[in-house]
Amino acid sequence: MDRPVVALVKFEEPYRSLTEAVELCEGFRGLDPGDEILIKPNLVTWDFDLPFPPFGVITTTAVVSALVRLLAERGFRRLTIGEAPLPVPKTQGRAIYRVLGYEKLRETYGVELVDFNEEKFEPVDFGDFELSIARRALEADKIINVAVLKTHNQCKVSLGIKNLKGVLDRKSKMFCHHPDRDLNHVFPRIIDKLPVALTIIDGIFALEKGPGPTGRAHRKDLLIASRDALACDVVGAEVMGYRAEEVPSLKFYADHHGRSLDLADIEVKGEEMARHRSYVEYDWEWTRDNTGPIGFEKRGITGIAVRKYDDSLCTGCSVLYNPMLIMLMSAFKGRPFPEIEVVSGKRQLAARGFAKTVLFGKCACELNKDNPNIAEAIPIRGCPPDLKKFEKAMREAGIECSYADYVKYRQYLFDRYKDRREFDMALYLG
Ligand code: SF4
Repeated sequence: MDRPVVALVKFEEPYRSLTEAVELCEGFRGLDPGDEILIKPNLVTWDFDLPFPPFGVITTTAVVSALVRLLAERGFRRLTIGEAPLPVPKTQGRAIYRVLGYEKLRETYGVELVDFNEEKFEPVDFGDFELSIARRALEADKIINVAVLKTHNQCKVSLGIKNLKGVLDRKSKMFCHHPDRDLNHVFPRIIDKLPVALTIIDGIFALEKGPGPTGRAHRKDLLIASRDALACDVVGAEVMGYRAEEVPSLKFYADHHGRSLDLADIEVKGEEMARHRSYVEYDWEWTRDNTGPIGFEKRGITGIAVRKYDDSLCTGCSVLYNPMLIMLMSAFKGRPFPEIEVVSGKRQLAARGFAKTVLFGKCACELNKDNPNIAEAIPIRGCPPDLKKFEKAMREAGIECSYADYVKYRQYLFDRYKDRREFDMALYLG
């Protein structure tokens, strides 16, 4: 049997490098110029209020623009770009397209820009569950999936197969974080219902401790492309130092389809893979007794047990988790906290023996509403919760969390990339 081909190309200039990647893997083979082609970048979120470093978090506009130009030059006219960004508090797809300069693609090439959240979703039967998928994605003739090279604190890596979670409606995205299911066994099935013809991994940056902007980006300068989604992800994982066998979602997908994860069964064209393999950490280390991140222990923070998030915590809460930790740190003034426990997600039950229990998010509030272990609850309702309300509730309970300190932290995260030529915002701003 022919081995799937994966192009691994050094990124030098967007159009030239992308053309090389597409040609090496014969990426447009099977596409017809009359096809309705949906391009699905990763534009999961943008922050219009606080500094937001997009490096390694979302797909670069440089790569998406190069792809559109290449398709247009090859005669493809029916092009759509679609994404369902996190609707927090309401969907921001159009604003994100604007800030990233996608309007130019509409003006120059007639590309249609679609926020799936504003359109119809169709229920799709997966046998043991149902998910609602954007009708645009189901009805496209072909999909070109343009993911990012990043790690993920719940899934180890987030590449092409994971990027397709972005075609789901909000409820279905939450379903992926079901308390009785393994996240890594749900989202890899989405691709089975979609006409994905080509996967491109934008590896200009690789993101450590992703998937959000609290991770750290590294310049990687790679483009990975393949008509075979699994093979593309196997190579993506490999260049970040992960054997596909140890990535639960890739292992699940391969088992489900009777596929091999052996690198020897993939033909990599272009760069030599071994030269680009370097380990990028995916997670924050926690104390052995699950009382908080190691960073808390190092700072001598005691009297608090922040239980580590599990995969039932969906992205809406997940992106607020580090901010919540930063705000808890801001409340530490050298004295132990008054025996507080923090639980989150859909599985964590509060333990006995704490003076106060923070229930972070609607799910934790509902799950623990009759929990007899709780002496005094600090419910942070909301789906996802609001950080300013978190600050208020904590202060009312005598814990001086500071939203302003979180804002400073966000500035710090942004400034880490400032004045460094390799972190060029022009790659994103079109
Ligand atoms: S509260 Fe958080 S974990 Fe629960 S459904 Fe909402 S976003 Fe997901």
